[in-house]
Amino acid sequence: MLQIDLRELARGPVDTRADVPGTDPLFEGVNVELSEPVRVAGRLQDAGDGRFYWRGSLTTRMAGQCRRCLAPVPVAVTAHVDALFSRDPDALEDPSSYLLAPDATAIDLRPAVREELLLAVPQWVVCRDDCRGLCPRCGKDLNAGPCSCPPAVDQRWHGLVALRDKLRD
Ligand SMILES: [Zn+2]
Ligand SMILES: [Zn+2]
Repeated sequence: MLQIDLRELARGPVDTRADVPGTDPLFEGVNVELSEPVRVAGRLQDAGDGRFYWRGSLTTRMAGQCRRCLAPVPVAVTAHVDALFSRDPDALEDPSSYLLAPDATAIDLRPAVREELLLAVPQWVVCRDDCRGLCPRCGKDLNAGPCSCPPAVDQRWHGLVALRDKLRD
C-alpha cells in the first residue's frame, strides 16, 4: 500500500511495503527498462506541523546498456529515500520534498517512488571498466579484436609536421 490515510498516521508510524511492477503506469516515460518489480520498504511518520517523513528504500534491477559497446548490462538499483511531505510550499527546498494539498486526507507515496527511482538510476553504465567500445567508423565491437580501419591520424601531429616543415625551410 502506497497511499496512507492521515488518520492512520495520527495513531503512529506506518510501515510502507509494496512491490510495484516495472510495467506499472507509474513508471511510464522513465526511459528505463525495469526487469524486476520495484520493492518499496520503509516507514512513514507524522512529524507535526503538517509535515511527514518517509524513510525507506527502493530496490529493483534494470536492463541497462553499455554506453561504449551497447551490450545489455543488468544493473541493480538501490535507493535510500529520505522524503518530506509538507503542506507548506515554503518547506519544499530539498529535491526529495513533496507538496501535500491542504485538503489531502492521505499521503500518496507513488510520485515519490517514481522521482526517487529516477534519481537512483545510473546515467552511465559500462559492461566492464576496460570496455573498448565500438569503432566510431565501421561500428565493429573492438572487444572482439581490432577492426581493419586505418589508424586515426592524431590532429596534434598536423601541427608538428607543419612546424618541422617550417624549421626545414
Ligand atoms: Zn561495453
Ligand atoms: Zn573500424
